[in-house]
Amino acid sequence: MYDEQSKVCNDCDISKPTSEFYAGRKTCKNCYGRRCSAYRLANPDCASNDSTRFTQWALENKSKIQTMAKAWDEKNRVRRNERLKARRQENPEKFREWDRNRPRTLARKRMEQANKKRLRQATPKAFRTKELRKAIRQIYLARPDGFHVDHIVPINGKNVSGLHVPWNLQYLPASENHRKLNKIVPLAQEVAYQM
Ligand SMILES: [Zn+2]
Repeated sequence: MYDEQSKVCNDCDISKPTSEFYAGRKTCKNCYGRRCSAYRLANPDCASNDSTRFTQWALENKSKIQTMAKAWDEKNRVRRNERLKARRQENPEKFREWDRNRPRTLARKRMEQANKKRLRQATPKAFRTKELRKAIRQIYLARPDGFHVDHIVPINGKNVSGLHVPWNLQYLPASENHRKLNKIVPLAQEVAYQM
């Protein structure tokens, strides 16, 4: 029976969904494109070889190009993110190194500045001593792989605000920290090395 959803290509003889064909064409998009480029190669004077025509078309179809570019980007971002994620899981140490050294975007710089400010605000003047700063630095430097430094009492909690001081810091598995967000959660000793 005739299948409306698919068509057999005249060139490659493969049955493909109709979306793989340009309207009214009997060859699939793939084969049609190959035919066109073969034709262009054989006929250097062919109008399709005139790049100014594309430039003109592009000028007249800016929004169409934007939409296409966006769709392409979206499709490939998903793929790219999946591939990045897999690679990160394979080699976390290398990835962290890369992350540390990659150039900072303006957005990232702003985020880092905001974080710094938040931490400074959570450190009362009495605790802004050289020794305490050094102790905090040590805690961050000694952070085991796959762990985050977490504030036991969150520094921007809803009802209470913890301090950015060594005794309010603990190591938390990265996944736990994300789940915890700004809640105060007492943790089992085996997952949190409390200081
Ligand atoms: Zn084909």
